[in-house]
Amino acid sequence: MEPREQLYEGKAKKVYSTDDENLCIVSYKDDATAFNGEKKGSILGKGVINNRLSNRLMQLLEDNNIPTHFVKELSERDTLVKKVGIVPLEVIVRNISAGSFAKRYGVAEGICFDSPTIEFSYKDDALGDPLINSYHALALKLATADEIKTIENYAFRINEVLKTFLLEHGIILVDFKLEFGKLPDGSIILADEISPDTCRFWDVKTHEKLDKDRFRRDLSGVEDAYNEVMRRIIGE
Ligand code: ADP
Ligand code: UDP
Repeated sequence: MEPREQLYEGKAKKVYSTDDENLCIVSYKDDATAFNGEKKGSILGKGVINNRLSNRLMQLLEDNNIPTHFVKELSERDTLVKKVGIVPLEVIVRNISAGSFAKRYGVAEGICFDSPTIEFSYKDDALGDPLINSYHALALKLATADEIKTIENYAFRINEVLKTFLLEHGIILVDFKLEFGKLPDGSIILADEISPDTCRFWDVKTHEKLDKDRFRRDLSGVEDAYNEVMRRIIGE
C-alpha cells in the first residue's frame, strides 16, 4: 500500500491517505515537543522506535481482544492503520503519581495508587488540551454516554495488559495517554500510538525515567532511554 496525499502533519506523525478510503498510513517523525508545543526539539531515531514499539504493543492488545487501528507495519517509520474519526479526548490512565497529577494536587511523584485513575483532556491544541469531565464531554457532544463507558472499560483493560507485559520486561507503567477513534460502523477502537512519547516508563529497580520526561526535563540520555525500552521490549 502506497501513501497518496498527506492528510495531516502533527507534532510527532504525518498521516497519509491510501487507495483504500478506510485505511491510512501514519509516518513517525523524530520531532519532539512538550508543554503544548512550547518546547521543540528532536530525538534521533525516535520515529523508528515509536513506530515499532507502538505496533508491538497494539498487537499485544489485539491478542487480548482489544480492537486497535493497527493493520500492518510497512517500513521502519510507516504503518498502515484503519482510518478513524478521532474522539477528541485524551484518555489518561495513572497507576502512580507523576507529572501534571503531582503538580495539580501538590503531591510527590511516585505514590502508588490502590487502584488506577482515569481522566480526560479535551484534545484541542488552541485551548491547551484542558482537563474535562465526562459530563462536559457529553455537553460538548464529543462522545455519547455509551462511547465514554466503552472507552473507560477499554482504557482500564489496556492498563492491565500493558502493566503486566511491561513489568515482565523490567518496566513500571506509571501513566499513559490513549486516543480512541470511531470506525464507519460506529464501533470504538484504540488509535494513535503507545510509546515512550505517550507513556511514563520507569526502570523497575532504579526508577530511572525511560520516556519523554527526559526530554521535557532536559535530562541527559534521551536517545539512550528510547533505545533501552526498544531493547527490552523488541530485543534490539
Ligand atoms: P498531534 O495531532 O497531537 O500533533 P501526532 O503528530 O501524533 O499528534 O499526529 C497524529 C494525528 O493522527 C493525531 O491528531 C491523531 O489523533 C491522528 N490519528 C491517529 N491515529 C489515527 C487513525 N487511525 N485515523 C485517523 N487519525 C489518526
Ligand atoms: N501525555 C501525552 N500527551 C499529552 C499529555 C500527556 O502523551 O498531550 C501523556 C504523558 O506522556 C504521560 C501521561 O499522558 O505519560 C500523563 O501526562 P500528564 O497529565 O502528567 O502531563 P504532563 O506531565 O505532560 O503535563
